[in-house]
Amino acid sequence: MKIDVLTLFPEMLDSLNSSLTGKAREKGLYELNCHDIRDYTLDKHKKCDDTPFGGGAGMVMMPQPIHDCILAVDPHHTAKRIYMSPRGKVLTQALVKELSLEEHLLILCGHYEGVDQRVLDLDIDMELSIGDYVLSGGEIPAMVLIDSVLRYVPDVLGNSQSTVDESFSQPLLEYPQYTRPQIFLGLSVPDVLLTGHHANIEKWRKEQSLEITRKNRPDLLEEK
Ligand code: SAM
Repeated sequence: MKIDVLTLFPEMLDSLNSSLTGKAREKGLYELNCHDIRDYTLDKHKKCDDTPFGGGAGMVMMPQPIHDCILAVDPHHTAKRIYMSPRGKVLTQALVKELSLEEHLLILCGHYEGVDQRVLDLDIDMELSIGDYVLSGGEIPAMVLIDSVLRYVPDVLGNSQSTVDESFSQPLLEYPQYTRPQIFLGLSVPDVLLTGHHANIEKWRKEQSLEITRKNRPDLLEEK
């Protein structure tokens, strides 16, 4: 998979060089290119934002540098072009899985009050939100999208079973996990996990998953 990120703050994406996403990049399991939108402005002062027509707070990102950057990165529109935005469709595990099948993602990160609507109308395929709250820029949402999608890219996860069992994939939340020591500060691991009886362990985990989902996210059960 090839991922192009368009941003005014490319250094923010450096965190992707750590942990799972960093290892996957080192192994060549995906290609990540971060593009500084400012490199494409025709303004002699490198200006990329201006006040909104009609008034209102803050600044809006200008269309020209974004449009030119998109055309340079994806001239034949072969990428799925996504604008990270609080007003977009909310990212779910099902959508993550769907997007992991794309060969090329282009992700536009907004800043300030957002992006001039015309460049979204001209160049963007979908707007995607990571939840019902507002962040100051699209870089963290872009990293959320990239991390979640890469978990479905072949060989990125050590154990391919991981995406099958984890929260939302069932669609239940995950059961509690325990590791050594068997007793920690007087708290013992549930007996059933020490029996080696796979059917009973499976049954216990299902029950725990149901209980946690009922308590924390009853909406998931209603959907089901
Ligand atoms: N004025 C915009 C509004 O009310 O919808 C909010 C702009 S926000 C301060 C700046 C940028 O952060 C957005 O252009 C978007 O790229 C990103 N952003 C903020 N919250 C987000 C979210 N929940 N999901 C995805 N992107 C988000």
